[in-house]
Amino acid sequence: MLSKIACLLLVAAGLASAEDQRFQFERPLMGTRFAITCYGEDEAAAKKAAEDAFKVGEEINAIASDYLPDSELMKLKPGEATKVSPLFAELLDASFIKARETEGCFDPTLGPLTKLWRETRKTQKLPDPETLAKARASCGWQDAEWNGQTSTILLKKPGMQLDLGAIAKGFTADKMFAVMKDHGFPRSCVAAGGDLRMGDPPPGRTAWRVGLQTFDTEKPEEVVELVNCAVSTSGDLHQFVEIDGKRYSHIIDPKTGLGMTEHVAVSVIAPMGVIADALDTAGCVAGAEKAEAMGMKFGATRVVVRTASKH
Ligand code: ADP
Ligand code: MG
Repeated sequence: MLSKIACLLLVAAGLASAEDQRFQFERPLMGTRFAITCYGEDEAAAKKAAEDAFKVGEEINAIASDYLPDSELMKLKPGEATKVSPLFAELLDASFIKARETEGCFDPTLGPLTKLWRETRKTQKLPDPETLAKARASCGWQDAEWNGQTSTILLKKPGMQLDLGAIAKGFTADKMFAVMKDHGFPRSCVAAGGDLRMGDPPPGRTAWRVGLQTFDTEKPEEVVELVNCAVSTSGDLHQFVEIDGKRYSHIIDPKTGLGMTEHVAVSVIAPMGVIADALDTAGCVAGAEKAEAMGMKFGATRVVVRTASKH
């Protein structure tokens, strides 16, 4: 399931010559579909590049997934300072900077609350106040001590668990794109679900055309033309639970501990996927007035906030 949408509008036309062929590779990863589109001359070389890119994606998943019990993330124990692998360190560095700079709108320590949200989705029942209070007490980025110098993390509160679901796909798209580029395919686009990271434009074109769809419309609300950047959209279009007529998004409001009920969707266009992904989530929590300034602080070139009164 695509939990957020920014779809690549692929065009077969516009190829400069027969030598510039389009290749596409897909794989399920991180609970969604990953797709690589690239242009080049040599199919075998493109296939090898994509293979290597997917390998990096799988490596990050094995490190940062909170669905895999033996991921590096899941093996962290509260109360024990742990030195992490270089790739995990890079992701944690990016995460804790965002947490600080968004004043916790993006919070990488909401594991206990997202676990509750998933239960709520299954049972269709909100947690009782005691359970909610207990989960909330185990969250809070300020109670996780990340030391970038020593690559060490200490989760200070009992029951604390990281959840990097709001940043990992954008981070991974960046890393996979870098592999494609290193293999000689700068005209590539990596779609990590709805998180897109693209490089130079397809041959004969000036940009990649991307449809932004935030709410339940038949067609994308807007088509943007992008080169060498990333775009990501977050909202409650696909992932939500409805209880007593209220829709709770999979984006947790750290102030309530529950899924957000405001129908807001935020798209961020930024130089890197790791920025676009974290900042679209943060923007939903921060709200329309603050989302743009927040994104711009991280070098986003555009932040689109859409609100809907009801679904
Ligand atoms: P998607 O998963 O659709 O790409 P997001 O990038 O917004 O959408 O990530 C949402 C996921 O991030 C949630 O499923 C949850 O795991 C986690 N999350 C929810 N709320 C927050 C938050 N306020 N800060 C950081 N991560 C969050
Ligand atoms: Mg996000």
